[in-house]
Amino acid sequence: MTDHLTTVAGVAVDTRHWIGGRRVASTDTFTDVSPIDGSTLGEISRGTGTEAAQAVAAAKAAFPAWAATSRAERARILHAIADGVEKRLEDLAVVETHDNGALLRSHRRGVMPRVAHNFRFFADRLLTLDHEDFETRGHTNRVGWDPAGPCVLITPWNAPLMLATWKVAPALAAGNTVVLKPAEWSPLTASLLADIAAAAGLPAGVLNVVQGYGAEIGDALTSHPDVRRISFTGSVPTAKRIAASAAANLTPLSLELGGKSPLLVFADADLDLAVDLAVEQYDNAGQVCLAATRLLVEEPIAEEFTRRFVEKASGLRQGDPRDEATDIGPTIHPRQLEKIDGFVRRAIAAGARAVVGGHREGDRYYAPTLLTEVAQDSEIVQEEVFGPVLTLQTFTTEEEAVRLADDTRFGLAATLATGDRERAERVTARLVAGTVWVNCFFVRDLRAPFGGSRHSGVGREGGTWSFDFYCDLKNTVTAPKGWKDH
Ligand code: NAD
Repeated sequence: MTDHLTTVAGVAVDTRHWIGGRRVASTDTFTDVSPIDGSTLGEISRGTGTEAAQAVAAAKAAFPAWAATSRAERARILHAIADGVEKRLEDLAVVETHDNGALLRSHRRGVMPRVAHNFRFFADRLLTLDHEDFETRGHTNRVGWDPAGPCVLITPWNAPLMLATWKVAPALAAGNTVVLKPAEWSPLTASLLADIAAAAGLPAGVLNVVQGYGAEIGDALTSHPDVRRISFTGSVPTAKRIAASAAANLTPLSLELGGKSPLLVFADADLDLAVDLAVEQYDNAGQVCLAATRLLVEEPIAEEFTRRFVEKASGLRQGDPRDEATDIGPTIHPRQLEKIDGFVRRAIAAGARAVVGGHREGDRYYAPTLLTEVAQDSEIVQEEVFGPVLTLQTFTTEEEAVRLADDTRFGLAATLATGDRERAERVTARLVAGTVWVNCFFVRDLRAPFGGSRHSGVGREGGTWSFDFYCDLKNTVTAPKGWKDH
């Protein structure tokens, strides 16, 4: 073992950057701690503009050869990466749980299989991606997909490898090279991904991973003139900084940001289903961009809904995310816990009532919380908390439900619970949201577009939309005349 390896629950993880097919150490490091118990997981190389420049240069150098690699070969390597993910699934699941505190059982059964699927899906989609031909007065138009160049991919901590690979896989499939910067609170699985990709035969420089604080390495990545695409998932304030930085080179951006999504529960809904959907919003300790954190419940059923909700939420088990029986793990970081508590304190001071929770549980957990008596224009209703905190408001008409649902600056998702198909169609048509779930939640298909409107994001990724973003479209118009063989 060298200084550059750390061991997390028996899994060795290299703490250095991965640039141009080799490990590169920074002189400075930052400490990565586990949300489970605050223990140190590793001293991670702390990148700055120097490593950003090296990584972009490596991505630029590797680009022509990778772009020229046949689609079949690129797809083969992506499938080999998926094989590698599956082979190391347990390592990835365990390391991710120690690093971000989300449930081990969902990493094992849901998230890591999905990581492998990200690679398989975009590999297969690449092979069926066809150019489009049409004719104009005897001339042919051929619209094709050209790889764009080096891409900078910046990701958050709440679903680290899942969100990273959701960008890495289509970017690589499209023939681009990548510089990935994972979040500083959960950088470890990105390092393992670099190992897996190298073992799968991905050429040096095609995938680079750099670590560090956004403020120290971020601008150097996003303002670099050789970067052709930036895809970012994270918070609105960071997105604004990145957009300003990218503006220097007019670098195209995809922004997947926060939300304050509603769950609309109509009186005609299956109430047990509606309560299940509501309680599900505490998953990952509420640290989910898509979470429907605003429960909007039709007045006549509000009391019964609340009674059943309280009963169900009170049965949730909060604790060690490695334990199979745990429903809710810790909050990512004491700073996040502080932030959540601040939101709830201020809401209560403004007149909100906590019918469930409303307090910390020790120094790592926040109790699942439901606040009632909240005003539509209050901070707790308008701002993303990113913790296990839901609000409940009532409505009396469909009109009012839609008005409340849409009255925030976000537009990521919305969930409806209703037994009336026509109502579902009517309401869905009027909501501003990238995804609407009707009588379900979190069902996601990689063929579907994903993204948000307003402050929830810019652009869509997923399915063919990912290739739209990661490629330059080229239209070639060819005349019927001028050929020597005519
Ligand atoms: P964040 O914006 O603080 O950080 C995200 C990433 O950006 C990190 O890697 C960070 O280091 C980096 N960063 C910070 N400053 C930067 C800069 N100036 N330049 C470049 N990079 C910089 O977000 P977070 O706290 O890690 O994540 C939580 C947020 O992410 C929430 O708002 C959540 O809703 C959102 N999110 C959105 C989606 C989605 O798909 N829409 C999914 C998950 C999370």
